[in-house]
Amino acid sequence: MSTASPQQHTFQAEVKQLLDIVIHSLYTDKEIFVRELVSNASDALEKMRLKELTESDVFEKGKALEITIITDEENKTLTIADSGIGMTEEELVRNLGTIAHSGTKAFLQAMKEKGEAGPEVIGQFGVGFYSAFMAADRVEVYTRSWEPGAPGLKWESDGQGGYTIEPVEDVARGSKMVLHLKDETFAKKSKVEELLKKYSNFVSFPILVEGERVNTVGAIWLKSKNEVSKEEYAEFYKFIGHAWDEPFYTMHFSADAPITINALLFTPGENNERFGMGQMEPGVALYCKKVLIDPKPKGLLPEWLRFLKGVIDSADLPLNISRESMQDSALVRKLNQLITKRFLKFLEKQAADEPEKFREFHEKFGRFLKEGIATSYEHQEALAGLLRFESSMTEAGTLTSFADYNTRAKEEQKEIYYLTGPSREVIESGPYLEAFKARGLEVAFFTDPVDSYVLQSLPEFAGKTLVAADRAEIELDDLSDEKEKLGEAEAKSLTEWLQEKLGGKVASVNVGKRLVESPVVALTPKDSLNPQMRAMMKSMGQEMPEEKPTLEINAGHGLVKKLSSLKDSDPELAEAIGVQLADQALLAAGLVENPQAVAARMNALLERVIK
Ligand code: ADP
Ligand code: MG
Repeated sequence: MSTASPQQHTFQAEVKQLLDIVIHSLYTDKEIFVRELVSNASDALEKMRLKELTESDVFEKGKALEITIITDEENKTLTIADSGIGMTEEELVRNLGTIAHSGTKAFLQAMKEKGEAGPEVIGQFGVGFYSAFMAADRVEVYTRSWEPGAPGLKWESDGQGGYTIEPVEDVARGSKMVLHLKDETFAKKSKVEELLKKYSNFVSFPILVEGERVNTVGAIWLKSKNEVSKEEYAEFYKFIGHAWDEPFYTMHFSADAPITINALLFTPGENNERFGMGQMEPGVALYCKKVLIDPKPKGLLPEWLRFLKGVIDSADLPLNISRESMQDSALVRKLNQLITKRFLKFLEKQAADEPEKFREFHEKFGRFLKEGIATSYEHQEALAGLLRFESSMTEAGTLTSFADYNTRAKEEQKEIYYLTGPSREVIESGPYLEAFKARGLEVAFFTDPVDSYVLQSLPEFAGKTLVAADRAEIELDDLSDEKEKLGEAEAKSLTEWLQEKLGGKVASVNVGKRLVESPVVALTPKDSLNPQMRAMMKSMGQEMPEEKPTLEINAGHGLVKKLSSLKDSDPELAEAIGVQLADQALLAAGLVENPQAVAARMNALLERVIK
């Protein structure tokens, strides 16, 4: 075996310190040493692939480029071998005896100086190898360089003070790491296979565990779109998303500037949150050159994109160590911006190209878009553009958008009007719509319970202010109508009388311009919370200041005209009717806390009338 006695080396001073950091605090998950060693093997194979192309004389030319893994539970060892470029003695000292000096980096540097493009190499950090000592108390490295005539070598260390190097015979080209493990966990075949599937499934060289290939799924996100079939996308989606359904949308793109990225994102077939299955977990994993950095990176995408599944691979990421530092890195923030924008653009295109399909998407996933409007200010406009709703100018069941609304808006119209309610029917039968209808103004209908909250956080769309149509401050043009109205003096005396009888329930009673068919309407101040929000805040135990609405009466309405004369002939009955009218208006505005009392008063009133 060995032809000379092992040569003692001590680690560079920084190595000792850094080993301590690596082993004890740098890596949050011990298990990632498997990822690091497999990545190194993959790097070495990538380099070898290049050597085969560029060098005429190569040791063991044509040898299969692969990673071989052997587990031995009995002896508590894990062996990871590759047929890559291997290392000379000098390289062993430089690469494994010196920390923060990445041989990979040096290799790339050399390639650069030679004016050639470097291979797809993963590691850039120069500490990955030492992660082996998190799991092992002794590591042997058998290696032989690709250079013809290079000797077989054995490097060995306990990760403490130093290491030994000795020449050994019968070493194949490449490197073989033998880890003597602290416990048998990582010597279990099933455990190692699980880790390989988790972290290294997309390494482009075969990974064989006891002769069986474990990485079966290719890194299809690095391919170009026309190289991947629909079936392959679907299979990959199921694999990465642990899903059983088919993807609804598939978005595959790459970019070189400002960041190099390859992204493959899937919208699932179904939104399980809709069925009360609890919050989805973010499902877009972060890779750097096919190597998994984090399966569920926080901050890579905004919360409201948690329904997406897939992969983002950025070659610009350092194969960094701690996930914690990952989260707030400027690069991750940039990725977040870029990908969110691209995805919203993608949706816009889908909506234009296949409106029916987009409608289905909106039905299933619209809630996430709304969540985005309420939480991501910078994407508000794009998100609002994707909203679909019915309006006073669409047939029931036909949807429109804010952009379409704007094409129909009047020339001088600076607002987009909307109403919220439980259904189209309820909105249409309420007292608010008629004023807008009579003037030919479109009102958007929103019927999802979250809509009032969402719209409250959306101030405008394409320069037009969003305004709830039940607000008091809206200025509307005069309507030329021929209906006979109460005279000015009569109207004044009626409004003053009614305000007095309502005893502080409303801020004021006025003759309004809005109403066409209804006798009375209650309007809330522009900046107040809408009634649904108020109810929600109250139910959460929040003290809400009293918001008094204003009451507008329709001076042309028969009931109002009769009330005006009734208040002189039968003041008592007139008061009962006046209060009831006001109550009904408040009820329609969602401002009555005790509807039972309104019904009780109504019953009493009916009893009086039916004599
Ligand atoms: P990095 O991979 O970021 O460079 P590592 O600590 O993981 O840092 O590895 C240090 C260096 O050791 C690598 O850059 C490489 O030159 C060398 N090395 C590690 N593993 C192998 C291997 N399997 N084959 C050849 N060289 C290797
Ligand atoms: Mg490495």
